[in-house]
This record gives sequence, structure tokens and C-alpha cells, in this order.
Amino acid sequence: MPVDKEIYNQIAASLQSRNVTLVAVSKTKPVSDILELYDAGQRDFGENYVQELVEKQETLPKDIRWHFIGHLQTNKVKAIAPFVYLIHGVDSYKLLKEINKQAARNQRTIPCLLQVHIAREETKFGFNEEELEELFVRHQDLLNELEYAAITGFMGMATFTDDPLVVRSEFQYLKNLFDKYKNIRQIDGKKFMTLSMGMSGDFEEAIADGSNMVRIGSLLFGARDYIV
Ligand SMILES: *Cc1c(COP(=O)(O)O)cnc(C)c1O
Repeated sequence: MPVDKEIYNQIAASLQSRNVTLVAVSKTKPVSDILELYDAGQRDFGENYVQELVEKQETLPKDIRWHFIGHLQTNKVKAIAPFVYLIHGVDSYKLLKEINKQAARNQRTIPCLLQVHIAREETKFGFNEEELEELFVRHQDLLNELEYAAITGFMGMATFTDDPLVVRSEFQYLKNLFDKYKNIRQIDGKKFMTLSMGMSGDFEEAIADGSNMVRIGSLLFGARDYIV
């Protein structure tokens, strides 16, 4: 399936009017597809494999803002640290420490979103409420040691289900946590402002529940040939 520019223009305009950032998820799609949306004005793209991201970054225009949205292994941070714009799925303190180290080596700050576990599925990664409390309240000192890894918000993925009530209650749960820690972080003077939730199938629900960044793939690029 080709890139659907009409849908892109509609979605981009509608999100822009609501101050929601659109991350076009281009995983598994060729650079020619990415360029089509780039030419239509899109600059934020999301990938979930390090190798694929690095290859695309090398060939595509340098003003693209690359979002890493997958599960990131500590030994892969190094490869994306020089250029990645935002890492969405940070799910451990160990990973934060490695991002901090690689960011320092590149003499830059890398913005990170902590992934919060909100779905019923066991397989989805992320911090739970208890672990967030640990990091943001009881061990703030550990966070403050990370000078180059900046936690700028949360990311979450709802349960894969047709039941909108389940999805919305999970989004609302994450929004409440976001608001709680936003207040704490802002007293601290740190930027904590991004709530990344919502994909092709549930982004309107996510926005209704307070998302300000959505990650949309198949709706823009067509279905992917294989599941990743
Ligand atoms: C693939 C992916 C998306 C996009 O999914 P679509 O349903 O194709 O919009 C969003 N977020 C993450 C973390 C993904 O891996």
C-alpha cells in the first residue's frame, strides 16, 4: 500500500490545531515512503530497530527528528546517541544511566520518556506506579545525577483490545500519573511536558485523555508486511 498523503494532510492539520505532535512511525517502510511525507512537511519520524534507524538516518535529510520508539537494549544506545531526538521507551534505571553516559560522550542532552506499564498484557515493558515513586520521590538523587539524560515525560501503550472503555481507562490512568509527576518535576525546574500515547487505532481516545504526542504508523504508511 502506498503512502496516503490525503490522510496525512488531514491528520497533520487536525493534530496541529490541537497542539499534538505527530510522530510518523516509519518502521519497516522504505526511505522513499519517508521522503514522501517529508516533502509534505513531516519532520518527526519514529523507528523501533536500532540498525534500521541508523541506516535511514544516514541516507535521509539531516533535519529529520528521529524518535526511537522500540525496546532499547543498553548495548545499542551508543549507535543512536549522536543524533536521536527523543527516546520514548525507557524502561529501566540501568538504561537511563547508559543513555546518560553516551549522551555525555556526545556532549549533548538526550530527552527521554519513561515508558509506563498501563496495559493488561504482561509483555509490554515499562515502569509501574511503585517504581515511578521510587525514582521520582524516594531516589530523586539518582535522577539528579543524570545530567545528560533528561526525562521530559511519559510514554504508554494501551491494551490491544476493541473495548474502548479499557483503553480509555488506561490512558486516563497514565494521564493522572503524568500530572502528578509534572507538578513535582516543575517545582524542580525541569522540563516535563510530553505525554506520548496513542497509535493508529486509538489516537483520538488518547488525545481526549490528554496525550500531546501520538505515534501513528499504519494509518499513514499502510499496513506493515510483517509484525514487529
Ligand atoms: C509500531 C508502533 C506504533 C505505530 O503503530 P500503528 O498501529 O501502526 O500506528 C506506535 N508505537 C509503537 C511503540 C510502535 O511500536
